Order: sequence, then structure tokens, then C-alpha cells
Amino acid sequence: MKTYDKLIFELSKPGRKGFELPADNYATDGLSAIPSDLLRETPAELPEVSELDVVRHFTNLSNKNFGVDTGFYPLGSCTMKYNPKINEELAALPEFTSLHPLQDEKSAQGALELYWNLQNMLANLSGLAEFTLNPYAGAHGELTGLMVMRQYHMSRCDLKRTKVIVPNSAHGTNPASAMVAGLEVVEVKSKPNGSIDVEDLKPLLDDTIAGIMMTNPNTLGMFETEILEIARLVHEAGGLLYYDGANLNPLLGKVRPGDMGFDIMHINLHKTFSTPHGGGGPGSGPVGVASHLVKYLPNPHVKKDAEGKFHVEYGDDSLGNISTFLGNFGVMMKAYAYILTLGKENIRNVGPLATLNANYIKENLKDDYLLPIEGVCKHEFVFDGLKDKSTGVTTLNVAKRLLDYGFHAPTIYFPLLFHESMMIEPTETESKETLDEFIEVMHKVAKEAKENPQAVIDAPLTTIVRKLDETGAAKNPVLNYRALKNKEA
Ligand SMILES: *Cc1c(COP(=O)(O)O)cnc(C)c1O
Repeated sequence: MKTYDKLIFELSKPGRKGFELPADNYATDGLSAIPSDLLRETPAELPEVSELDVVRHFTNLSNKNFGVDTGFYPLGSCTMKYNPKINEELAALPEFTSLHPLQDEKSAQGALELYWNLQNMLANLSGLAEFTLNPYAGAHGELTGLMVMRQYHMSRCDLKRTKVIVPNSAHGTNPASAMVAGLEVVEVKSKPNGSIDVEDLKPLLDDTIAGIMMTNPNTLGMFETEILEIARLVHEAGGLLYYDGANLNPLLGKVRPGDMGFDIMHINLHKTFSTPHGGGGPGSGPVGVASHLVKYLPNPHVKKDAEGKFHVEYGDDSLGNISTFLGNFGVMMKAYAYILTLGKENIRNVGPLATLNANYIKENLKDDYLLPIEGVCKHEFVFDGLKDKSTGVTTLNVAKRLLDYGFHAPTIYFPLLFHESMMIEPTETESKETLDEFIEVMHKVAKEAKENPQAVIDAPLTTIVRKLDETGAAKNPVLNYRALKNKEA
């Protein structure tokens, strides 16, 4: 192992220092101002390293990280696309970052205007009446949206409606959010082509149904062509339609969930609208609703008065607060900058380009990888592992082997409809050259699987850590150096 790949504690040499405050500049007064019982008795256990050691160690470490800024990241459902840097710069403007959420609304008019404009832009892009930007993530948006759904039925004293229909191909957060919102989950089956089975749906639609959660295109990247019929049936039965718009990439600027009959939706700004994600935040999951549901949106709201001034308001019919203040403002700024810099014309190209790229990969790989659902997909598609199953090489093995070739793995083993799911989403921001390179490597791995399956099964071979014990990492985490030493001892 190279020196700087070691743990920082392993680089420690007694007495080595990075920096020392000149003793004569700091009289002992500073220290003596701290009550003696608060002073530590033994020095902190810190690595003793030079400044250069620290710089090299962390710079080398950061270079081992994989991100969309370092390579292709075809992670289906997650939309790992390029986030233009200008949006980061605008979000870092001190005029905005130095605002305090408790300051007088008169002195924060610009920020409130941005919130108001962005919620309008999202409403226009989605075909819904109004958005709240307060939720912090996709799943948080789902919870908020389902609370709106529940509030709607409760306000009409329709208390029997406690069930939400969720397709068996749905993202795991859908049933989880429904449970957290106090609703019962009822599963509707998919047809062999991945779309909702309307015949299976019909008998579920009774007066206990609060609504249905869907995404369209669905998790297999296929457009639900019967959506208008589904919307009609659900509405006729007194239910509402919830759209999981975590990934709005396939539709952006072309098709609007509101026009398909959806009443409530959320959008992940950190997937479609230019906030990097994958590290656990910050995110934002705005929720939009049709006009008859606007009054239930969470508090606080941003409103514009007749004189063009913006106000933070609290509504009486609202379901209450779901966040502190108005959500993750920095993420909103990036989304706002992204929409404005793309403009109306370019935003219309996002969906078609994402779709073209996905189909290009799919068509070029389907002789080596099993394509369970033929036809034109939208922004993503799913392979059911390698076509030749005789080699013993699994989807997990292929995913790990891709790391050796410098590509991030696709989403694997999701959706649960197939045993060897491999969900690929290239996004609109990749060049044809990158797509071709990925296709070439995927063919190469398929060839290796036939000729030298063990090499693929043993992958990754060239990464800094090999195959990890993920269950072990979750169940017995070793989170600091002392724990590691104790474990080794
Ligand atoms: C990512 C995703 C979510 C959840 O979003 P989080 O911000 O991770 O909570 C929900 N649904 C779909 C389809 C997603 O891709």
C-alpha cells in the first residue's frame, strides 16, 4: 500500500507537527479563562503528522472517490447527471447565503421572490396549481404529499379512506412513506410488459381507497399508456393520484403529470434540477398539488400581494409544518439557476435526449444482455442480467467488474420484478463517445464472462478496496481508529 493510502493515524510519528501557534503570541490568559474542570487532563488522541502529510493524504483520498465529475454514472432511477458549475456559484452568492431564516421578510424580499418564482416554474413544468418547496428530500416529499391526500379525505369526513395502492415495481420509499403517513399499502400487479395491470386495479378501487402512487414512465422506463384510463377509474372511485416525480428527466418540458390526471406529486431537485446527490444531502423534494388541494399544503407559504411584495404566511387548513422555515434554500437556488440558464427551448430537449441515450445503449447491448421488455423505453431501462446464464456470472459480478474499467455500476437488483435487474440511466448530459465507450466495456465484460468467468466473479480487481461485506459494514460498523485497533487486537 502506498504511504498516503494508509489511515491518517498510521502516518503518525510522535512529535511531528503540522502547525504550532507561536507561544509568545498567546499568553496563558486565554487558557486560564476556561474553568479548570473543563480543561482536558490528557492530550487528545490525534494523529501527529505534518501539513504535507495531511494535504497528500486527503488529496489522494479524494481522488479515489467516484462522482459524476470523474466518470460515467449510469445509476438508474437516480439521474446522476452533470450539474453545471455556474449553478453552484450562484447558490454561493453571499447576498443569499448570509440571510438568516428569522430575519424580517422586508429585508429578504429577493429570497422570497426566488422561492415564489421557482414554485411557479415547477407548477408550469408539471401542470399543477401550486408547489411547496419546504420538504427536504424525495421521501419527505412523498410523506408530505400523502399527508395532503389524507387531510383532503379527512376534511370531507371520508374517514374510511385509509389505503394507498402502490405498484409492485415502485421505488421502496413509496410503500414506506405510505406507512409513515398512517396509510395501509395495497399492491397492484404489473403486466409482463411492466405496466400496471388495469384489470388487477379495478377490483381494488372501493370506498376505502385514498389514492394510488405511480410514476410514469414507470420504474422499468416504460410509459404507462393507459394512464388516462387509470386516472379516470381512480377519480371515479373517489381516490387521488400521486405522481412520484423524483426523476422528472424523461418528461421535462414535454409531458406534464398534471395533464395526465395526477393531483399530487413531488420532484427531487437533487436529481433533475442540478444538485449533486449521493452523499446524503442536502436535497429538496418540492410537492405540487392540483387547485382543490392547495389549501392543505404545509406551512409556511410564500405569497405575493397586490403591490408585488412577498410574505411568509400560515394557512389555517394547512396540514402544518413539515420542516423548519422554508426548506433547503441553497438547493432551490441551484434549481432556479438551472431552469433559467437552460431556458424554455433547451429544457424541452432534456427528456428526448435522455430517452435517445437510453435507447441507444439498450439497442447496442441487447444481444449480450437479457432485455425482458422490448420496445422504446424512456430515460432508463432494465436488463435481467447477462443473456448467457450458463457462465455463473451474476449482475453483481458485472457491476463490480465495471468499476475496474472506470465506470460506476448501474442500479442493480432493483426493480424486484426480475432476479438479475440491472437498471441503466445514461441521462441527457453524456456524449456519444462516452456512451460508445460504455457499450464497448459492457461487451467486453460479457465476453470475459464466457472466456474467463472467474475474473469477473472476483472483481473488482483494481480498486482500492475489493468486494465489501456490506451487511457486515452495516451490522458491525468500525467508525474510528480506536475501534479498528480494538477489533484487530
Ligand atoms: C430517489 C427516488 C426517491 C427518493 O428520493 P430521496 O430524496 O432519496 O428520498 C423516490 N422515488 C424514486 C422513483 C426515486 O428515484
